[in-house]
Amino acid sequence: KSLAIYVAQLPDGPSPGTILVLHDTTKLRQLERLRQEFVANVSHELKTPLSVIKACVETLLDGAAEDEQSRAEFLIQISEQGDRLYALILDLLSLAKIESGNPELELEAIPLIATIEDCLDRHRPRAEVKHQSLIADFSALESPDDVLVWADEEALSQILDNLVDNAVKYTPEQGQVRIRCWPEGENQFGFEVSDTGIGIPERDLPRIFERFYRVDKGRSREVGGTGLGLAIVKHLVQVLNGSIRATSSLGHGTTFTILLPKAREA
Ligand code: ADP
Repeated sequence: KSLAIYVAQLPDGPSPGTILVLHDTTKLRQLERLRQEFVANVSHELKTPLSVIKACVETLLDGAAEDEQSRAEFLIQISEQGDRLYALILDLLSLAKIESGNPELELEAIPLIATIEDCLDRHRPRAEVKHQSLIADFSALESPDDVLVWADEEALSQILDNLVDNAVKYTPEQGQVRIRCWPEGENQFGFEVSDTGIGIPERDLPRIFERFYRVDKGRSREVGGTGLGLAIVKHLVQVLNGSIRATSSLGHGTTFTILLPKAREA
């Protein structure tokens, strides 16, 4: 524990004496350490693609531009690193907006199934490249069209997009990504995004929602990850008054389960 101690001497008066104030600064120090770590991480994440871009440009200027094949290779590198910077900045902006406590949500009754189907359609082309199947399983629902959650449409889509994007990324070719949905008690709906991918080691599972935490840094960057996706998902689920948890079996797959409040009766 860190303590700040303040001592004040009271002037002579009706009740003279000394005041001793003990202030526990442990929490403050922890926050300051987290802030410093975050700044260091962001700087590092920005610096790496920029260094690659700079090196490619210098090599091109040094003469590589004259060879058609080298020119194409270096330009592709520059474009990929540019995409990486762009993705990182978008994620940082999302995170900043949510953490500012003013995420500009518009809570309303959102049809969960249509939102899930739109999300799956967006990811189908990428899954097809990897010969993966994207499956929606709504068999636990009596009338899927009536599944309304109390949420913000953009936030819900962002949650689904991040989870399905990860599922496709961390699942090898021919694998399967499945979304299941069910009523959870009186007041909630549950849905889960599960995959047959590489899985997450048990010791890493409690940390995957931390900003920039990656099980395998090299692999995550290679597949285009910013390390911020799950931190954003967790925050969004919280502001929607829901909950999220992850279970995984290494080498077999991962499941993210989300519970969201049902939309109130109109
Ligand atoms: P990233 O941009 O690196 O994917 P995320 O915050 O989305 O960052 O995820 C954090 C880490 O959790 C990833 O780097 C990866 O190691 C692990 N992870 C997330 N989703 C999955 C999944 N479906 N299967 C296996 N590992 C996953």
